[in-house]
Amino acid sequence: MDIVLKAERITKYYRAWAGVFRRGSSIVKAVDGVDLALERGKTLGLVGESGCGKSTLARVLMRLEEPTSGRIYIDGEDFLAFRGKALRRERRKIQMIFQDPYSSLNPRLTVGSTIAEGIKIHKIAKGKEVRERVMALLAKVGLPPSAENKFPHEFSGGQRQRIGIARALAVEPEIIIADEPVSALDVSVRAQIINLIKDIQEETGVSMIFIAHDLGVVKNVSDTLAVMYLGKIVELAETDAIFREPLHPYTKGLLASIPVAEVMERCTKEPPRLVEIGSNRLVRCWLHNE
Ligand code: ADP
Ligand code: MG
Repeated sequence: MDIVLKAERITKYYRAWAGVFRRGSSIVKAVDGVDLALERGKTLGLVGESGCGKSTLARVLMRLEEPTSGRIYIDGEDFLAFRGKALRRERRKIQMIFQDPYSSLNPRLTVGSTIAEGIKIHKIAKGKEVRERVMALLAKVGLPPSAENKFPHEFSGGQRQRIGIARALAVEPEIIIADEPVSALDVSVRAQIINLIKDIQEETGVSMIFIAHDLGVVKNVSDTLAVMYLGKIVELAETDAIFREPLHPYTKGLLASIPVAEVMERCTKEPPRLVEIGSNRLVRCWLHNE
């Protein structure tokens, strides 16, 4: 297997202040020991309810934040070891599509400049060729050529997300992390954006982590699924297998759209190990641990 991105035992802890009347602070284990491997050219869907740590994991994988502990490898190289110029060069390989396409775009830059920025920084093209690339990217994401000289506020939510996608694609990354790319959009445009992302996957062969809080969104774009609960991966399997036969009670709840407030009490005291069930299936659950 050709693994483009590998994460080992990633943790990210935050200090959460207890409040005015209580002293000291407690620790929020936003990401609590995550192992992931992304196969080149494939899409890994990462699902779990709001607050389970998906965006934190994404930010750590992007190195927008340093993990508390753990290791990240891109193309087999230690991503956390890069500094300075080498880090800037390496960053080109992994790009992000954000949940809120408005706050992630610079309101003072035209769409053309936004897309051209990465192309120039990473010296992917120069002179006239920069603009040619920008125009080709606009076409690829379904925006008219006239978008080039407009500003983000002149577009709808769906169109802004297309701009965000073009910006991510501009540097020809190996990996794209899409963090709930349709959650902030009107239901009527969600399918269009998901279809655009699917077309791009097929056309470019980019490897992708697609994050969502519901399984329906990731079903048609993901080869494998990782289900996250309270900072941990509780189930990992091929997408079809998860839909055919979910093993973890939390996954079953997600599939049925039932809120699963608590899993078994025993899990909070003694965390079960992630065990292999059959081929290419992993589950972290006492019901499957013995
Ligand atoms: P998700 O993307 O799955 O909704 P997040 O990664 O945003 O979850 O958050 C996971 C947990 O970490 C939440 O409890 C959240 O409040 C906490 N958290 C995230 N970022 C910070 C931060 N910068 N400081 C403190 N706590 C944070
Ligand atoms: Mg999030």
